[in-house]
Amino acid sequence: MPGRILVVEDEQDVRDLLVLTLRNAGYQTLTADTGPNAVRKAASEVPDLILLDIMLPDMSGTEVCRRIRNEPATANTPIIIVSAKTEEVDKILGLELGADDYVTKPFSPRELVLRINKLLRRGKGATDKSDRLVIGELVVDRSRHQVTFRDREIILTPTEFNLLGLLMERRGRVQTRDRLLTDVWDYEASIDTRTVDTHVRRLREKLGDACDYVETVRGVGYRLNGPPD
Ligand code: CA
Repeated sequence: MPGRILVVEDEQDVRDLLVLTLRNAGYQTLTADTGPNAVRKAASEVPDLILLDIMLPDMSGTEVCRRIRNEPATANTPIIIVSAKTEEVDKILGLELGADDYVTKPFSPRELVLRINKLLRRGKGATDKSDRLVIGELVVDRSRHQVTFRDREIILTPTEFNLLGLLMERRGRVQTRDRLLTDVWDYEASIDTRTVDTHVRRLREKLGDACDYVETVRGVGYRLNGPPD
């Protein structure tokens, strides 16, 4: 599956390793070694996905993430945070700021490529699941990777898109945070379930008038309901 990936990493040997891993997997690569370069290149080149080191000397990875998300051209570009194990807080911040996923250093090249493939496949909407989900005036069209509410398009990141699709498929059934982590993010080990909360919060903000479709089930998780009768 072809695609262009922007690798943001200040350490040259790590950057070289990431580039090599991605090229071996058939991807084209672009690189940036500083935060400002990353923001500039993301806007001018509009890559298919961004691998973002959270520890940059000149600008924090979370700030880079925020700026990339604020740029219309890259508002929905998949971002994978690359962080060291000790940077737990930054990792969560990155997810709150709109990153789709993260990997920790030292990373497994195979796992990294699997996660990238998954995000890009999802982004292109190539899925064997039912293509069109309709609840009330909310429509998720997976083949076109499009969400509309009252015929107005709602722009979501790949993770938000997947989260909404899954909640719609399981309409009326409570989904626990752990279940969502497993099914949306593919995490076997239990990581911080706040990741789920922050993504649901951002999804609700984007849904606007349809935000009430997503119900919080206190102490358990979330459930998508139809429009109020
Ligand atoms: Ca670094």
